[in-house]
Amino acid sequence: MPNQAWTALPNGNLDWFNEQVYNYSGYAEGSLDGAGWAAMVHEDDITTAAARWAAALKRDETYENEFRLRRADGVYRWHLARAVPIKDEQDNVTRWIGTNTDIHDQKEAAEALEQRVQERTRQLMQAEEALRQSQKMEAVGQLTGGLAHDFNNLLAGISGSLELLAKRLAEGRTTGLERYLSGAQENARRAAALTQRLLAFSRRQTLDPRPLNLNKLVAGMEDLIRRSVGPDVQVEVVQAGGLWTTKVDDSQLENALLNLCINARDAMAPNGGRLTIETANKWLDERAARERDLPPGQYISLCVTDTGAGMTPEVIERAFDPFFTTKPLGQGTGLGLSMVYGFARQSGGQVRIYSEVGAGTTMCLYFPRHHGEADERDETIASDEIEHGHGEVVLVVDDEVVLRMLMLDVLQESGYRALEAMNGPSALKILESDQRIDLLVTDVGLPGGMNGRQIADAARRTRPDLKVLFITGYAENAVVGNGHLGPGMEVLTKPFEIAVFGHKVRDMIDRGTWLGRIGAIVPIR
Ligand code: ADP
Ligand code: MG
Repeated sequence: MPNQAWTALPNGNLDWFNEQVYNYSGYAEGSLDGAGWAAMVHEDDITTAAARWAAALKRDETYENEFRLRRADGVYRWHLARAVPIKDEQDNVTRWIGTNTDIHDQKEAAEALEQRVQERTRQLMQAEEALRQSQKMEAVGQLTGGLAHDFNNLLAGISGSLELLAKRLAEGRTTGLERYLSGAQENARRAAALTQRLLAFSRRQTLDPRPLNLNKLVAGMEDLIRRSVGPDVQVEVVQAGGLWTTKVDDSQLENALLNLCINARDAMAPNGGRLTIETANKWLDERAARERDLPPGQYISLCVTDTGAGMTPEVIERAFDPFFTTKPLGQGTGLGLSMVYGFARQSGGQVRIYSEVGAGTTMCLYFPRHHGEADERDETIASDEIEHGHGEVVLVVDDEVVLRMLMLDVLQESGYRALEAMNGPSALKILESDQRIDLLVTDVGLPGGMNGRQIADAARRTRPDLKVLFITGYAENAVVGNGHLGPGMEVLTKPFEIAVFGHKVRDMIDRGTWLGRIGAIVPIR
């Protein structure tokens, strides 16, 4: 036979090898007997070979093992060793007969194939990743295109209005100018709303969280919600008694709630149905918290339930993805829930979907409990009413010329003394003087090597009680502490209405009038 063949005694000692073994290995006849065969085996394969041989002997079962055997010239080749026990009538093993078959070529081919498969899999994964990336770019492209289009329309409205305004003023015709003014304002508001949504889903929005009572917020929105969902949808509000206070950005929460209600309306169209908005206190134990990917503790939930079409598990899986929509082209943006999700997570909370196809959907927002009283400050200001100061001094730092001019104008018109600086170094020069300053208003992103936060920190070294109002565009949240600011520091997000700015200035200055007075008598330094 061409194979290597051998025999062994019942105790496992090998006692005979055929000529092929000696020819292959180059060993002298008889030198492989007993356990001498181990000398042929590659040292890395010895342990397994010995263990398998011992196991086969113990159970009188077929021995099978792959190992490398050394050829006379020192080359190792893979072999498949197999051996069967020969038994007598009493079922006792009388000897073993084994063979070693050279499987080196097959094994190498198999390994090469394995490698090719791995290589191919890697390439496929790369291709898939590239595809995913290109789909993402496609989506981003669509979004950017859509945005640019919307923005251009809005800008055209603004610049057109301003142009006509200028023309009319130059001609001395002042009647009917309000039309242009309100047109420009309306478009600016819509443009701001557009960027807000984008910032929300990129979780880069500047949040201005404050302690609030969710019941009040919901009650305040009931009318707007009813009007948004239309007469076919019956709106029910269930308010928990003794609801805990939470700390969130109220206008973002209003946005999120409205988004959920509009989704609910869409899910119930065209027949309508019932929409329930419910608040509750929730105590999440270890397990409940883990399920919601939140730390255990006390939360306030705000759930919106509809009796609409519901969602399949696949839709639930993807509902929070930006751009994911099941609505016809032009109707859904797929940005609503991604914004809600970004906002909830950024606020230290969570959002969860409970839905059944055909039965309806409950969307629940969770926010951490805040220990403290709700902030009762009333944000409703008539847009043209600007509070009046009494000569308090406000330092405005902003490199944006037009915005700085607008802020200075409004401050001066409202009875403040306004000082200006266009960057950190020039601001510090003023801050380090004996000049009375009641409030520092500073942009966060500034040229000249210092951001607004650094200016504030430097100023507070000599004026520890200085109040600071940060003006921020977007990505600078981290710089101003993601909405977790120290006492006497607040944030206003660009773009803002001038009236809101005026109100905020008045509010901040008033909240520490005594400081202002001391400043008026004794220079702060
Ligand atoms: P859009 O409303 O623009 O489609 P959203 O991010 O708000 O984008 O929602 C994503 C998708 O999630 C929707 O297209 C819809 O398929 C599903 N969805 C969201 N809310 C509900 C709901 N209340 N009932 C059923 N499906 C919903
Ligand atoms: Mg939506």
